[in-house]
Amino acid sequence: MNKQFKKADVVIIGGGVFGCAIAYYYTRNNPGQKIIVLDRNELCNAATSHAAALVTKIRAKKSFIPLSLETYQVVAEMEKILGESMDMKFCGVIHLAASEARLAELKELMAIAEEFNQAAHYISPEEAHQMSPWLKTDEALSIGYMPDEAYCDPYLLGTFFSRCAKLQGAEFIQGLEATNLIMEGNDVLGVHTKEGDIIAGTTIVASGAWAPKFAREAGVSLPMAPTRSQYWITEKNAIFPVNSPIVLLPDAQAYARPEGGSLLFGIRERNSLSVSADVIPSDVNDFSFSPDKGVQDLSEVIDRLARFFPKVYDIGMKYYVAGFSGYTPDNNLSMGIAPGVNHLLMATGCVGAGISVSGGVGLAFAELAAGKENPYDFSAFDLQRFGEVDPFSPEWLERCARARSTKVSG
Ligand SMILES: Cc1cc2nc3c(=O)[nH]c(=O)nc-3n(C[C@H](O)[C@H](O)[C@H](O)COP(=O)(O)OP(=O)(O)OC[C@H]3O[C@@H](n4cnc5c(N)ncnc54)[C@H](O)[C@@H]3O)c2cc1C
Repeated sequence: MNKQFKKADVVIIGGGVFGCAIAYYYTRNNPGQKIIVLDRNELCNAATSHAAALVTKIRAKKSFIPLSLETYQVVAEMEKILGESMDMKFCGVIHLAASEARLAELKELMAIAEEFNQAAHYISPEEAHQMSPWLKTDEALSIGYMPDEAYCDPYLLGTFFSRCAKLQGAEFIQGLEATNLIMEGNDVLGVHTKEGDIIAGTTIVASGAWAPKFAREAGVSLPMAPTRSQYWITEKNAIFPVNSPIVLLPDAQAYARPEGGSLLFGIRERNSLSVSADVIPSDVNDFSFSPDKGVQDLSEVIDRLARFFPKVYDIGMKYYVAGFSGYTPDNNLSMGIAPGVNHLLMATGCVGAGISVSGGVGLAFAELAAGKENPYDFSAFDLQRFGEVDPFSPEWLERCARARSTKVSG
């Protein structure tokens, strides 16, 4: 061991939305216990601040839903603590089905909404077009509307968690890298940093795209791959009303939401990009996601989108945003207690849904770190469900990239 820098009950590697959320719940539920969150950059600098930030509640993967419901609950809780609004945009979701397969999925989704007591009803193509004037609805077989869905500013969400956690006693250290885990046999004892060792009863890896490297040190093969997510923001136009709903177009494998008078949209590219965690620079903004700002990717699939958004050919694109999310072959989260080692938790593998599920993930890991039971069923997210995998191998990266490009929604 090196010189001791600090000691805590819990140390978290990574101050993105997961790390900040865990710190919030841990300090709320365990007053007097010490937790340290370490980020080598500024808080929420990586995936979190780049997210489109749909806070989707109603989705086909039912195991995500209680986690997202908790996010809505905790936002209201933190707004009370801080006496400030987070300005969540409760604009609702339009879900348009234009094929028999997607129609069956929409029916299932409406039933799921009912099961979870969430408002949802069908609307006419005219109503949908009135709410979202850019949307061409003549191919719609059916359109569902979920009025209570929202999107948010993801950076604000992360910093609401961190500000409340600080008020409750959490310590955040920015600009300091966790270089390695401190291991003694099968026990993880904390992290090494250039300032010295941080010794902790429990270590939580919440380092996003870089998480497979810490897992490897502990002999754990983390089943996820850093995979590019990307979206575009158009120029402003009157056809994109500021308060219009989020639109999900599973037949186009696309989503869109208003962004201050512009339209923000994402579409599954034909060839997704998954890379080894070893090649991602420590500041994700130094990574070249696309030399042409996604123009080639977009041009390969734009016809799919144009079926529902014909003006996409005429409207200028103002911004291109890309970042890494941890994808898995089954599009389920990949997180939980690290197998085969002691005192190590992996808050990882967000499959592009980390903003939505951050509340539940924060609560789950805070409870696990305190030695309590996980209040949620994480069996679908089990770290050993794919058997023995090499998360750095080209075959694995290809499997995860394919899972993203074939995903139709969520
Ligand atoms: C383009 C895009 C669109 C998205 N859209 C949505 C959406 O609409 N809805 C949704 O729910 N989710 C969305 N996501 C996913 C969401 O952004 C992520 O799931 C979420 O931000 C993951 O948070 P995190 O804390 O795990 O990771 P991150 O935010 O990446 O945080 C990891 C942190 O770890 C730090 N770190 C790494 N290594 C070290 C080290 N050695 N020492 C110290 N610190 C370290 C990094 O600096 C970073 O701050 C999107 C993502 C992208 C990229």
